[in-house]
Amino acid sequence: IKKERLDKVLSNMGYGSRKEIKQYIKNGRVIVNGQVAKNNSIKVDPYKDEINIDGEIVEYKKYIYIMMNKPKGVISSTRDPFFSTVLDLLDRKYLSFNPYPAGRLDKDTEGLLILTNDGRFTHKLLSPKNRVNKKYYVEVDGYVDEKYISLFKDGIILDDGYKTLDSKLEIIESNYISKVYLTIIEGKFHQVKRMFEAIDMEVVYLKRMSMGNIKLDEKLLPGEYRELSKEEIQNFK
Ligand code: URA
Repeated sequence: IKKERLDKVLSNMGYGSRKEIKQYIKNGRVIVNGQVAKNNSIKVDPYKDEINIDGEIVEYKKYIYIMMNKPKGVISSTRDPFFSTVLDLLDRKYLSFNPYPAGRLDKDTEGLLILTNDGRFTHKLLSPKNRVNKKYYVEVDGYVDEKYISLFKDGIILDDGYKTLDSKLEIIESNYISKVYLTIIEGKFHQVKRMFEAIDMEVVYLKRMSMGNIKLDEKLLPGEYRELSKEEIQNFK
């Protein structure tokens, strides 16, 4: 591991701009291995040296994993010319990691969105080979007949002729506006909406509840997020 300048390490980790960090160091707010850092050009090994800023230990990490309850109205990409994106919701200290959404949701869809900068984790999550379950809570206009359960299980033909892999439809309530869960193991463009379109039904509300064994934290209101726990990352399947 090569050593790097203290101010660079801290600004890369999102603790502030280089200029701000310099000021923090000058004000004696940064402690390295128990000693107040005297100047910003000292070299540190971010993995080994214990760095402390305002009494908080800086944990150096390469990857970031965030679970967000995506709200309606924001785009799940890193940039958009017109609308705000999910990145606009993140605290600045996370942006330095360059996270991106691993699996998108439509602008009007809510629920579980994972943001990370770990390509391997993204691949695990999204590779069609892995057939990761994606469970959605769906409200559709009109009654949902029990017969659709087997139809969805066998696969249905979308507007472009593609036949979906087996999916699991669970009817919570069949009514003027019906409530169901739909679990799919792939992620075609607008897939859930198009599956219901194929049976002449319109999705009026859509929320992703889980991806594999990672469940949306019920405590998160739309627009809120938290980091994934080590267990969630390590035990993901
Ligand atoms: N399926 C959709 O149609 N939209 C989403 O956002 C996710 C899955």
